[in-house]
Amino acid sequence: MHAVQRLFLYRQSLSTTEFRARGYKIIRCEVCRLGVDNCICNLRQQANSHCAFALLMYDNEVLKPSNTGRLIADVIPDTHAFLWHRTEPNTELQQLIADPNYQAFLIFPGEYAHAEQQVYERKPVDFDNSKIPLFILIDATWRQAKKIFRKSDYLAKLPIVTIPALEQTKLENSKVKAPEYKESVEPQNTDDRHSELIYNFDSRYQMRKAEKEGQLATAEVAAKVLDMFGDSDSAMHLDLWFDVFSYRYQQSKSQKNQANSGAINLYKKFIAKS
Ligand SMILES: [Zn+2]
Repeated sequence: MHAVQRLFLYRQSLSTTEFRARGYKIIRCEVCRLGVDNCICNLRQQANSHCAFALLMYDNEVLKPSNTGRLIADVIPDTHAFLWHRTEPNTELQQLIADPNYQAFLIFPGEYAHAEQQVYERKPVDFDNSKIPLFILIDATWRQAKKIFRKSDYLAKLPIVTIPALEQTKLENSKVKAPEYKESVEPQNTDDRHSELIYNFDSRYQMRKAEKEGQLATAEVAAKVLDMFGDSDSAMHLDLWFDVFSYRYQQSKSQKNQANSGAINLYKKFIAKS
Protein backbone atom coordinates (compact mmCIF):
# COMPACT_ATOMS: atom_id res chain seq x y z
CA MET A 1 0.00 0.00 0.00
CA HIS A 2 1.50 3.36 -0.97
CA ALA A 3 1.36 6.68 0.88
CA VAL A 4 -1.71 8.06 -0.89
CA GLN A 5 -3.66 4.84 -0.38
CA ARG A 6 -2.78 4.96 3.34
CA LEU A 7 -3.75 8.62 3.58
CA PHE A 8 -7.02 7.88 1.80
CA LEU A 9 -7.96 5.24 4.39
CA TYR A 10 -6.93 7.55 7.22
CA ARG A 11 -8.91 10.50 5.87
CA GLN A 12 -11.89 8.27 5.20
CA SER A 13 -11.80 7.09 8.83
CA LEU A 14 -12.10 10.73 9.97
CA SER A 15 -15.26 11.29 7.97
CA THR A 16 -18.51 10.95 9.80
CA THR A 17 -20.46 11.14 6.58
CA GLU A 18 -19.76 9.52 3.25
CA PHE A 19 -17.86 11.78 0.88
CA ARG A 20 -20.12 12.40 -2.08
CA ALA A 21 -18.13 13.42 -5.08
CA ARG A 22 -19.86 13.53 -8.42
CA GLY A 23 -20.59 9.97 -9.45
CA TYR A 24 -20.59 8.71 -5.88
CA LYS A 25 -23.05 5.99 -6.82
CA ILE A 26 -20.46 4.22 -8.96
CA ILE A 27 -19.03 1.10 -7.28
CA ARG A 28 -15.34 1.90 -7.07
CA CYS A 29 -12.16 -0.11 -6.77
CA GLU A 30 -10.80 0.78 -3.32
CA VAL A 31 -7.27 1.08 -4.70
CA CYS A 32 -7.40 3.05 -7.97
CA ARG A 33 -10.79 4.59 -7.13
CA LEU A 34 -12.13 4.01 -10.62
CA GLY A 35 -15.39 2.22 -11.28
CA VAL A 36 -14.77 -1.52 -10.82
CA ASP A 37 -15.41 -2.13 -14.53
CA ASN A 38 -12.64 0.31 -15.36
CA CYS A 39 -10.11 -0.65 -12.68
CA ILE A 40 -6.51 -0.09 -13.82
CA CYS A 41 -4.78 -1.85 -10.94
CA ASN A 42 -3.50 -4.75 -13.04
CA LEU A 43 -1.72 -2.28 -15.35
CA ARG A 44 0.10 -0.40 -12.60
CA GLN A 45 3.92 -0.54 -12.66
CA GLN A 46 6.45 1.47 -10.70
CA ALA A 47 9.22 3.45 -12.34
CA ASN A 48 12.85 3.25 -11.32
CA SER A 49 13.19 6.88 -10.30
CA HIS A 50 15.96 8.75 -8.50
CA CYS A 51 13.51 11.45 -7.38
CA ALA A 52 11.10 11.68 -4.45
CA PHE A 53 7.79 13.44 -3.95
CA ALA A 54 5.91 14.73 -0.93
CA LEU A 55 2.27 15.57 -1.51
CA LEU A 56 0.71 18.06 0.83
CA MET A 57 -2.98 17.46 0.38
CA TYR A 58 -5.82 19.77 1.21
CA ASP A 59 -8.44 18.23 3.48
CA ASN A 60 -10.70 16.05 1.35
CA GLU A 61 -8.58 16.16 -1.82
CA VAL A 62 -7.42 12.59 -1.18
CA LEU A 63 -11.05 11.41 -1.13
CA LYS A 64 -11.82 12.71 -4.61
CA PRO A 65 -11.81 9.95 -7.23
CA SER A 66 -10.50 12.52 -9.72
CA ASN A 67 -7.39 13.22 -7.63
CA THR A 68 -4.20 12.60 -9.61
CA GLY A 69 -1.69 12.92 -6.76
CA ARG A 70 -2.37 9.23 -6.27
CA LEU A 71 -0.91 8.52 -9.72
CA ILE A 72 2.43 9.97 -8.64
CA ALA A 73 2.53 7.54 -5.72
CA ASP A 74 1.60 4.73 -8.13
CA VAL A 75 4.65 5.41 -10.30
CA ILE A 76 7.32 6.96 -8.05
CA PRO A 77 8.26 4.55 -5.23
CA ASP A 78 9.61 7.26 -2.90
CA THR A 79 6.39 9.26 -2.55
CA HIS A 80 5.08 10.63 0.75
CA ALA A 81 1.66 12.11 1.40
CA PHE A 82 0.38 14.35 4.18
CA LEU A 83 -2.75 16.19 5.11
CA TRP A 84 -2.34 19.91 5.50
CA HIS A 85 -3.43 21.53 8.75
CA ARG A 86 -3.78 25.26 9.13
CA THR A 87 -2.81 25.32 12.81
CA GLU A 88 -0.39 22.40 13.23
CA PRO A 89 2.58 22.38 10.89
CA ASN A 90 3.22 18.83 9.74
CA THR A 91 6.19 17.46 11.73
CA GLU A 92 6.72 14.42 9.50
CA LEU A 93 6.98 16.63 6.44
CA GLN A 94 9.38 18.95 8.24
CA GLN A 95 11.55 15.99 9.23
CA LEU A 96 11.62 14.91 5.61
CA ILE A 97 12.64 18.42 4.52
CA ALA A 98 15.44 18.41 7.12
CA ASP A 99 16.67 14.92 6.13
CA PRO A 100 20.21 15.36 4.72
CA ASN A 101 19.59 12.64 2.13
CA TYR A 102 17.11 14.91 0.42
CA GLN A 103 17.19 18.33 -1.20
CA ALA A 104 13.66 19.69 -0.95
CA PHE A 105 12.05 21.98 -3.51
CA LEU A 106 8.58 23.42 -3.48
CA ILE A 107 6.82 23.19 -6.85
CA PHE A 108 4.95 26.45 -7.19
CA PRO A 109 4.58 29.41 -9.57
CA GLY A 110 7.65 31.58 -9.21
CA GLU A 111 5.63 34.78 -9.29
CA TYR A 112 4.41 34.03 -5.73
CA ALA A 113 7.90 33.58 -4.27
CA HIS A 114 8.85 35.64 -1.24
CA ALA A 115 11.71 38.08 -1.72
CA GLU A 116 14.29 35.78 -0.09
CA GLN A 117 13.06 32.67 -1.84
CA GLN A 118 15.13 31.23 -4.68
CA VAL A 119 13.26 30.30 -7.87
CA TYR A 120 14.56 27.77 -10.39
CA GLU A 121 13.22 27.31 -13.89
CA ARG A 122 15.56 24.40 -14.52
CA LYS A 123 17.61 21.98 -12.45
CA PRO A 124 20.08 24.08 -10.42
CA VAL A 125 23.57 23.86 -11.97
CA ASP A 126 25.12 23.44 -8.52
CA PHE A 127 22.71 20.67 -7.51
CA ASP A 128 24.43 18.20 -5.18
CA ASN A 129 23.90 14.89 -6.99
CA SER A 130 24.57 12.87 -3.85
CA LYS A 131 21.15 14.08 -2.69
CA ILE A 132 17.72 12.91 -3.74
CA PRO A 133 15.58 15.75 -5.09
CA LEU A 134 12.41 15.88 -3.02
CA PHE A 135 9.60 17.70 -4.80
CA ILE A 136 6.89 19.05 -2.54
CA LEU A 137 3.61 19.43 -4.37
CA ILE A 138 0.56 21.07 -2.91
CA ASP A 139 -2.32 18.88 -4.00
CA ALA A 140 -5.39 21.08 -3.90
CA THR A 141 -7.44 23.41 -6.02
CA TRP A 142 -5.54 26.51 -7.05
CA ARG A 143 -7.32 28.67 -4.48
CA GLN A 144 -6.55 26.23 -1.68
CA ALA A 145 -2.95 25.90 -2.84
CA LYS A 146 -2.42 29.64 -2.54
CA LYS A 147 -3.86 29.53 0.97
CA ILE A 148 -1.58 26.67 2.00
CA PHE A 149 1.43 28.51 0.60
CA ARG A 150 0.49 31.69 2.46
CA LYS A 151 -0.15 30.00 5.77
CA SER A 152 2.77 27.57 5.94
CA ASP A 153 6.00 29.25 7.06
CA TYR A 154 8.05 26.12 6.53
CA LEU A 155 7.24 26.22 2.81
CA ALA A 156 8.35 29.82 2.48
CA LYS A 157 11.93 28.79 3.34
CA LEU A 158 12.22 26.30 0.52
CA PRO A 159 13.67 26.97 -2.91
CA ILE A 160 10.94 26.98 -5.54
CA VAL A 161 10.96 25.03 -8.79
CA THR A 162 8.57 26.35 -11.38
CA ILE A 163 7.61 25.25 -14.87
CA PRO A 164 6.25 27.38 -17.71
CA ALA A 165 2.79 25.85 -17.34
CA LEU A 166 2.58 27.07 -13.75
CA GLU A 167 3.06 30.61 -14.96
CA GLN A 168 -0.08 30.25 -17.03
CA THR A 169 -1.80 33.11 -15.26
CA LYS A 170 0.64 35.49 -16.90
CA LEU A 171 -0.16 34.05 -20.30
CA GLU A 172 -3.84 34.51 -19.71
CA ASN A 173 -3.41 38.05 -18.55
CA SER A 174 -1.50 38.96 -21.65
CA LYS A 175 -4.13 37.12 -23.72
CA VAL A 176 -1.57 34.84 -25.33
CA LYS A 177 -3.20 31.61 -26.24
CA ALA A 178 -1.40 28.42 -25.29
CA PRO A 179 -0.87 25.99 -28.16
CA GLU A 180 -3.48 23.31 -28.56
CA TYR A 181 -2.84 19.65 -27.95
CA LYS A 182 -4.28 17.54 -30.73
CA GLU A 183 -5.43 14.31 -29.25
CA SER A 184 -6.64 12.68 -32.39
CA VAL A 185 -3.13 12.52 -33.82
CA GLU A 186 -1.36 9.45 -32.55
CA PRO A 187 2.37 9.99 -32.96
CA GLN A 188 4.64 7.30 -34.47
CA ASN A 189 6.33 6.41 -31.23
CA THR A 190 6.10 7.30 -27.57
CA ASP A 191 9.27 9.40 -27.69
CA ASP A 192 7.74 11.89 -30.12
CA ARG A 193 4.64 11.98 -28.06
CA HIS A 194 6.59 12.73 -24.95
CA SER A 195 8.43 15.75 -26.26
CA GLU A 196 5.11 17.04 -27.48
CA LEU A 197 3.65 16.74 -24.00
CA ILE A 198 6.56 18.33 -22.23
CA TYR A 199 6.58 21.44 -24.36
CA ASN A 200 2.88 21.92 -24.41
CA PHE A 201 1.09 24.11 -21.95
CA ASP A 202 -2.33 22.59 -22.28
CA SER A 203 -3.60 20.01 -19.91
CA ARG A 204 -5.15 16.80 -21.18
CA TYR A 205 -7.12 16.84 -17.97
CA GLN A 206 -10.80 16.87 -18.72
CA MET A 207 -12.00 15.18 -15.56
CA ARG A 208 -12.52 18.26 -13.49
CA LYS A 209 -13.35 21.61 -14.81
CA ALA A 210 -10.11 23.47 -14.37
CA GLU A 211 -10.51 26.69 -12.45
CA LYS A 212 -8.44 28.32 -15.10
CA GLU A 213 -8.07 27.31 -18.70
CA GLY A 214 -4.92 25.29 -19.22
CA GLN A 215 -4.40 24.45 -15.58
CA LEU A 216 -2.51 21.22 -15.17
CA ALA A 217 -3.37 18.22 -13.07
CA THR A 218 -0.99 17.46 -10.20
CA ALA A 219 0.39 14.37 -11.94
CA GLU A 220 1.09 16.36 -15.11
CA VAL A 221 3.06 18.94 -13.14
CA ALA A 222 5.04 16.14 -11.48
CA ALA A 223 5.93 14.63 -14.87
CA LYS A 224 7.25 17.97 -16.11
CA VAL A 225 9.40 18.41 -13.01
CA LEU A 226 10.83 14.88 -13.35
CA ASP A 227 11.79 15.70 -16.91
CA MET A 228 13.41 18.95 -15.80
CA PHE A 229 15.60 16.99 -13.37
CA GLY A 230 16.70 14.56 -16.06
CA ASP A 231 14.43 11.67 -15.14
CA SER A 232 12.71 11.60 -18.52
CA ASP A 233 11.87 7.88 -18.34
CA SER A 234 9.86 8.35 -15.15
CA ALA A 235 8.32 11.51 -16.60
CA MET A 236 7.10 9.61 -19.62
CA HIS A 237 5.94 6.70 -17.47
CA LEU A 238 3.87 9.06 -15.32
CA ASP A 239 2.45 10.94 -18.30
CA LEU A 240 1.35 7.72 -19.96
CA TRP A 241 -0.10 6.42 -16.69
CA PHE A 242 -2.00 9.67 -16.31
CA ASP A 243 -3.48 9.17 -19.78
CA VAL A 244 -4.53 5.62 -18.88
CA PHE A 245 -6.26 6.92 -15.76
CA SER A 246 -7.82 9.82 -17.63
CA TYR A 247 -9.24 7.53 -20.30
CA ARG A 248 -10.62 4.94 -17.89
CA TYR A 249 -11.98 7.62 -15.56
CA GLN A 250 -14.03 9.08 -18.36
CA GLN A 251 -15.16 5.58 -19.39
CA SER A 252 -16.77 5.35 -15.94
CA LYS A 253 -18.85 8.39 -16.63
CA SER A 254 -21.58 9.20 -19.04
CA GLN A 255 -19.73 12.27 -20.30
CA LYS A 256 -18.16 12.11 -23.73
CA ASN A 257 -14.71 10.57 -23.45
CA GLN A 258 -12.19 13.19 -24.59
CA ALA A 259 -9.16 11.26 -23.43
CA ASN A 260 -6.80 9.33 -25.67
CA SER A 261 -8.36 5.99 -26.59
CA GLY A 262 -4.90 4.67 -27.45
CA ALA A 263 -3.62 5.46 -23.94
CA ILE A 264 -3.58 1.88 -22.67
CA ASN A 265 -1.70 0.58 -25.70
CA LEU A 266 0.87 3.36 -25.50
CA TYR A 267 1.38 2.68 -21.81
CA LYS A 268 1.74 -1.08 -22.34
CA LYS A 269 4.24 -0.54 -25.14
CA PHE A 270 6.28 1.78 -22.96
CA ILE A 271 6.32 -0.69 -20.04
CA ALA A 272 7.31 -3.57 -22.33
CA LYS A 273 10.20 -1.51 -23.71
CA SER A 274 11.57 -0.39 -20.36
ZN1 LIG B 1 -8.32 -0.66 -9.19
